[in-house]
Amino acid sequence: MIHDFSSFGFDEKITQGLDAMRFEKPTEIQVRVIPEVMAGQDVIGCAQTGTGKTAAFLLPLIDHIIKNPDTDKSRALIVVPTRELAVQIAQQLEGFSYFAPISSLAIYGGGTGEVYSNEKRSLIRGVEIVVCTPGRMISHLNLGYVDFSELEFLILDEADRMLDMGFYDDIMKILSFLPKKRQSLLFSATMPSKIRELSRKILHKPVEINIGLSKPPDQIQQVAYVVYERQKMDLLPLLMNDLSMKSILVFGSTKAGVKQIARQLKNQKHNIEEIHSDLAQNEREAVMNRFKSRQTRILVATDIISRGIDIEDIDMVINYDVPNDAEDYVHRIGRTARAENLGKACTLIGTAEQEKFASIERLLKKEITKMSLPGEIGPGPDYRTSGKKQNDTRRKRFKRRVAKAGAKRR
Ligand code: ADP
Ligand code: MG
Repeated sequence: MIHDFSSFGFDEKITQGLDAMRFEKPTEIQVRVIPEVMAGQDVIGCAQTGTGKTAAFLLPLIDHIIKNPDTDKSRALIVVPTRELAVQIAQQLEGFSYFAPISSLAIYGGGTGEVYSNEKRSLIRGVEIVVCTPGRMISHLNLGYVDFSELEFLILDEADRMLDMGFYDDIMKILSFLPKKRQSLLFSATMPSKIRELSRKILHKPVEINIGLSKPPDQIQQVAYVVYERQKMDLLPLLMNDLSMKSILVFGSTKAGVKQIARQLKNQKHNIEEIHSDLAQNEREAVMNRFKSRQTRILVATDIISRGIDIEDIDMVINYDVPNDAEDYVHRIGRTARAENLGKACTLIGTAEQEKFASIERLLKKEITKMSLPGEIGPGPDYRTSGKKQNDTRRKRFKRRVAKAGAKRR
């Protein structure tokens, strides 16, 4: 088993890039995916958020391009669900290839006409690695000036999220512009059956690498507060009194909810901003940057940023609402305790959310500590769930309801 980046046989320039980015040891998914990609295999990589999937595909890709510099046409296309993720991958790419002459471009929706024509110009000139969101890529492809005739790699990142967001047809459309003979890689945090179907259509005899069941890292301290809905807004600011928590991410399930939480915290003079899909692209980026650089202490967000977006060193994640399923829960709290850091995750469980939370606990096979409420909040309700006694029909009905709620939310 490889335990060291030097064992992959990467070009020297990549080793320098890794040093600069302080990557010392490969993660498990990297150890298992990188040699397969270097051997020319198609790969399905499934591992929970925060396990380093990005580098698992970027590093062998960059290495291949450095070692085979024979064309100036586009070599690789990375398709991702959101603008934020496109930007983030492009940034990592720049870091890794800082010492290598590789051209890359992130193209995504929004932005001005000028941005569009810049993208167009770069695409015509030929850029080696393109990172894109589906819709924007298709509008370029439809106009006929993109030459992907020598494309060697197709990468679908966060494939589960792309399908959730309804990008299936777009992905198929993009595929129709690509050479049949290519190496394809698919990454996902979860592996529902529709992902398997997608991979059967797109990949050729893929090697499947699956790293464990999605579970939050052990170093996250998880607690919950059982409250009446009306107590949530009183409890929230108290959770923020701990001044050692310098960076706090609060998740709300709906846009309206997020706006309301943000408004109340602002009224209480907290250093806070909000992020959701009503914000324009440049505003979202500015908000994210201020949060990342810790100018903003508290960020209130919808699930728009729960998957894939890399914000380091968050001290605490607060679920103002119980997430709709265990995967969402893991994705949300996975924002904290990255790498070696300790993190804390608090979930506020309203009376109508107790069953939902209990089902998350069942899936994680872990009972999460219920904290007693601070005196000023008053007494909360009991935590009463039907637990294992819940029969199958009820569970199915609940699952359907959750799925519906999820669809609405997205
Ligand atoms: P995923 O896509 O699996 O959710 P990312 O690729 O976004 O995870 O990586 C999560 C974080 O871990 C990022 O900040 C990334 O820079 C960091 N990281 C990934 N691999 C390593 C490594 N081998 N050493 C140190 N940090 C790493
Ligand atoms: Mg990722």
